[in-house]
Amino acid sequence: MGPHKYNLWGLFYLTNVLFMNSEQYSFEFEVYNSIDDLNKEDGALLQQARDIAENAYAPYSNFFVGAVAQLANGKIVSGTNQENASYPVTLCAERALLATAASLYPKIAINTMAITYHNHNQNSDSSHPISPCGMCRQSLVEYEGRVGQPIRLILGGFEGKVYVVEKANSLLPLSFTSKDLL
Ligand SMILES: [Zn+2]
Repeated sequence: MGPHKYNLWGLFYLTNVLFMNSEQYSFEFEVYNSIDDLNKEDGALLQQARDIAENAYAPYSNFFVGAVAQLANGKIVSGTNQENASYPVTLCAERALLATAASLYPKIAINTMAITYHNHNQNSDSSHPISPCGMCRQSLVEYEGRVGQPIRLILGGFEGKVYVVEKANSLLPLSFTSKDLL
């Protein structure tokens, strides 16, 4: 009985292996040493995001985030994080920007969005790039879908390295979208 038992388990294992595929996900992004290495247009957008970050309402975190986007129609739209004493009510800069863009210029694509921050807490620095939070990634992917164009992201801090990501949906693989509701 023993050998038969092992053979059956062996067959079971083999069958499962044969029906399993693994897939890999990866994406490339550009890394620049500083804002000075960006092209003129990207550098200007990131600088505007740094400037607008100071308009954030962030009395609880002291983490001031600014986002500035160039739309396909040439208009510039911005957003900053808006916190609330009821913490979950807080709105991120990226989603503030998306709501503004969609309200002022519905159906217009966003070509590029620069996102940066200034950490006002003591003994902190603002020298590494930040990336949108999970909730904002979901919103960015929805926006790309509704206007049919990827959003290019420039991710920075108040100094230091800058990342450039060609499509926001690169940051949210296997994302849940409207297609899943069909
Ligand atoms: Zn967010």
